[in-house]
Amino acid sequence: MREAIIIGGGLAGLSAAIYLGRARRDVLVIDAGHSMAVWEPDVQNYLGFPEGISGEALLERGREQAIRFDAKFVEDRIVETSGRCGEFVLKGDHDEYRARRLIIATGLTHLPPEIPGVKECLGHSMFFCKDCDGYRVQGKTLVIMGATDDAVEYALSMLMYSPKVYLVTNGEEPRWDECHAKWMEEYEIPYHTGRVVSINHEKRQIKGLCFEGGRELAADYLFTVRGDAYHNGLAISLGAAVDADGQVEVDHCMQTSVKGLYAAGCVTPANCQMVIAAGQGARAAQAINRDLFEEDIATHALRRFRQVQVRTEATLPEVVE
Ligand SMILES: Cc1cc2nc3c(=O)[nH]c(=O)nc-3n(C[C@H](O)[C@H](O)[C@H](O)COP(=O)(O)OP(=O)(O)OC[C@H]3O[C@@H](n4cnc5c(N)ncnc54)[C@H](O)[C@@H]3O)c2cc1C
Repeated sequence: MREAIIIGGGLAGLSAAIYLGRARRDVLVIDAGHSMAVWEPDVQNYLGFPEGISGEALLERGREQAIRFDAKFVEDRIVETSGRCGEFVLKGDHDEYRARRLIIATGLTHLPPEIPGVKECLGHSMFFCKDCDGYRVQGKTLVIMGATDDAVEYALSMLMYSPKVYLVTNGEEPRWDECHAKWMEEYEIPYHTGRVVSINHEKRQIKGLCFEGGRELAADYLFTVRGDAYHNGLAISLGAAVDADGQVEVDHCMQTSVKGLYAAGCVTPANCQMVIAAGQGARAAQAINRDLFEEDIATHALRRFRQVQVRTEATLPEVVE
């Protein structure tokens, strides 16, 4: 039985592991190895890396740091969870695990539009997140894909970065309301309703969007209004509440609606940023450390630990004459 298990070794899970390791807790990170961070070759908004760092390198460094503080790692995919605070039981593809406290840090997957060429450009010239990538596309020709109020607001917000912003609905009828339609007019945002059949790209750099009928729109970067799939199944199976979007609900300590079950990172309302995921992981770990401490005091488990210290180590301060 571990004191704490973290499912997910992305930014949130690694940060939690560092905190729990440094709190001298027996912590295991179980990770399937598909962090979204690997899609970003040049993270520019993570504190402490003025030259930028790749998402992959950030993960490697985080893992190294957690190992330094004795966190243990196993590569596995958890498929089933049961139990409750004090004894959560996890079944993986390879093994079974038990822990007194559990952190779900399983993240989400942004679903890219299924258009030939999109996958190759992912993270290089096709993006999901303006906070991550808006800054790097200043002055370029930007296409926002979407047909909703959100898409209109996305397009308008990108005017901070470039005067050349287009909206493409990819074959959908616009679903923005009257107010958003007025803003489209007021800010003179052009839009196309044609279906995009492929992305013209060279070495992962978008050159244009090819429409049904043969027309091509020159573009440098494509952003889509995110279709997000939250990896919330394990949390739900333990009884945790999720909101209408599927994000796991947490309190200010990152505890879910289930006692002893915590969640951190993009599976919660974290606005899916690395630095926020890391902060949430730290918060969850601090809360678990406190929670375990209180339980150990109440059950006298800390006393058993102390008895060993008193028996085997010098515990009284030396008196200096
Ligand atoms: C193209 C792209 C660019 C981005 N650029 C930036 C950027 O510049 N700046 C920024 O702040 N953010 C950026 N992001 C977002 C960033 O990747 C996320 O904010 C961050 O990875 C979230 O961390 P997390 O720990 O919540 O989830 P993740 O890092 O995705 O980690 C979740 C982990 O949980 C594991 N997992 C899931 N289910 C299971 C299971 N059942 N059993 C075991 N393990 C499981 C997964 O394999 C994965 O390793 C970008 C994302 C994308 C897609």
